[in-house]
Amino acid sequence: MARSKRAGRLRETIAQLCAEHAAVVRLTEGPGDAEAQAERAVAQGFRTVVAAGGDGTVNEVVNGLAGSSVTLGLLPLGTMNVFAAELGVPGNEPRKCWDIIEAGHVRRIDLARANDHYFVQLAGIGFDAQAVEGVDQGFKNNFGPLSYVISAARVAARRPPRLIVETEHAPAREGCFVLVGNGRFYGGKFEVFKNATLDDGKLDVIICKNVGHLDLIRYVQNVLFGTHLELPDVEHFQARKLVVRPAEENERVPFEADGELVGHAPVTFRVTPGRLRVLTPRPKVAGARPVRLSGRAALAAAAAADAARRPTGGGDPLLAVF
Ligand SMILES: [Mg+2]
Repeated sequence: MARSKRAGRLRETIAQLCAEHAAVVRLTEGPGDAEAQAERAVAQGFRTVVAAGGDGTVNEVVNGLAGSSVTLGLLPLGTMNVFAAELGVPGNEPRKCWDIIEAGHVRRIDLARANDHYFVQLAGIGFDAQAVEGVDQGFKNNFGPLSYVISAARVAARRPPRLIVETEHAPAREGCFVLVGNGRFYGGKFEVFKNATLDDGKLDVIICKNVGHLDLIRYVQNVLFGTHLELPDVEHFQARKLVVRPAEENERVPFEADGELVGHAPVTFRVTPGRLRVLTPRPKVAGARPVRLSGRAALAAAAAADAARRPTGGGDPLLAVF
């Protein structure tokens, strides 16, 4: 009840913000709708589309925008907001997020793809997708996140799949659970892909060789201490392209992207460097000292600072998709 009250207040604030700034708001009605709305917005000439919702909404909007030069804005309202956290956009703080959107600082990040489905944060093949697949809808409505834990425990008791991971310049690798990261975070602010950056043109890949109950506890403990990549049964590498397929051809192994079930392996991962434009907070320049300027240099610096303050989206049509 408290949760829904809070959600109601957030929606009210956003409706107010959109009205104040003459932004167009489109409400989604079900799965796939945010993607369709974003696609339509591109065709209608909107220059900025704001995804208002959780990581699932962001993923849908990104799929609708993919291939266009339309800029993505974020109004994170989900429980996790992993992608927003990665970019330093605060969760469930619509006014602060609106300031970021208005300031118009664009960061170009890599756009990842699993077969024909785009994603921004991460994908998983095997264990986590099986856990999502195994969640009972009725149970989820009553118990929320606990239903995923129970499903995961059930999956961990089963025989894990054997997966083959192929990259261009290395021998094939093997494991039973594969994670592909564009950013650092997984399942909240857990730095699973410790060395990943969103703009290096590469995907970070983690292969787990075991996924029994005790292995999972050990992995989680090591993630918390930041030592999981040193485990002997965990492999980590970077690649621009990779293929993950089941060792036994007809084994059905699901994969997820940004937390949504997408399909079954085989799956080809690719990344297009700098393909997605996202509105993010302006980076703080570490250790920058004020420099005293005079004459023409001072005038030029003032003009540059003024241009930087001016929102790039000034007067550009903006659409918010819920
Ligand atoms: Mg990267």
